[in-house]
Amino acid sequence: MMKQSPQTPIPLSPSSRCFVFRGAEILIPPGADLRRLLEGVSADKVRAAFKPEEIEYLEVPLLDRSAAVPCFSLYRCVLPPPGWESVSLRALVSGGVPEAAAEAVPYCGAGPSALSTVFRACHVMQWLSDSVFCGSCGSRNKIPTPELARVCPVCGRVEYPRLSPAIIVRICNRDGEILLAHDRKFVGNIYSLIAGFCEAGERLEDTVEREVFEEVGLGVRNIRYVGSQGWPFPNSLMIGFAADHSGGEIRCDGVEIEDARWFGRDSLPELPGHGSISRFMIEEWRAG
Ligand SMILES: [Zn+2]
Repeated sequence: MMKQSPQTPIPLSPSSRCFVFRGAEILIPPGADLRRLLEGVSADKVRAAFKPEEIEYLEVPLLDRSAAVPCFSLYRCVLPPPGWESVSLRALVSGGVPEAAAEAVPYCGAGPSALSTVFRACHVMQWLSDSVFCGSCGSRNKIPTPELARVCPVCGRVEYPRLSPAIIVRICNRDGEILLAHDRKFVGNIYSLIAGFCEAGERLEDTVEREVFEEVGLGVRNIRYVGSQGWPFPNSLMIGFAADHSGGEIRCDGVEIEDARWFGRDSLPELPGHGSISRFMIEEWRAG
């Protein structure tokens, strides 16, 4: 049984807009318009639907600290109340959600946007509900400081939201075609760029070379930085690169990658949703 969060009473007026997360899902109340998903929910609806022992509350500061976003995080072991809809944020930007929900995500490339604010809030709220107890001695951590640090009152261990770097790479061949792959985790028949997590001690360039070789058997050269995006599925920072094919034939690993092919601009398959850095990078290539 969850114990009540040691938070002070929630200083929200009934009409305040806030976000409710459960892991990387965003929850919306019965009858809400999916197209307004990124605008949040009124606080009175949240208070009426959830018991205090089921949720954590935190005002997540914006990166420039000019304001804070009121957020709730439902423990993963608690199911959403009847009628509440749960939308996977990852699916929202990767494809495979109802059309109305997809409309909630404007085409925003990799720059700051309402979506990046929601991604940050989601990242921090997952950390909040996953860091209730000290990972070293098991004592209950203190509530987060404004710097988003949780300190153990017994052993002094400090815990910040975890960031796991991951690369995503746009590979082109001599004919100007792009390599796109279908990962078995993808919904439907979506094809996207090769991506993977950095290992301890690895340089980002090493990760690009290793992931591309492991997943599709190709060599790459001329690796250069394109852009990045916070990606809370979970805890990630996606770091985008472009690279040129330097050798080898496509050989899918069969574990993660089921199919990979070279595509020209006029023959593209189903792509990830707008709002993801993968789509941004593909569109950048398509525009020449
Ligand atoms: Zn401790």
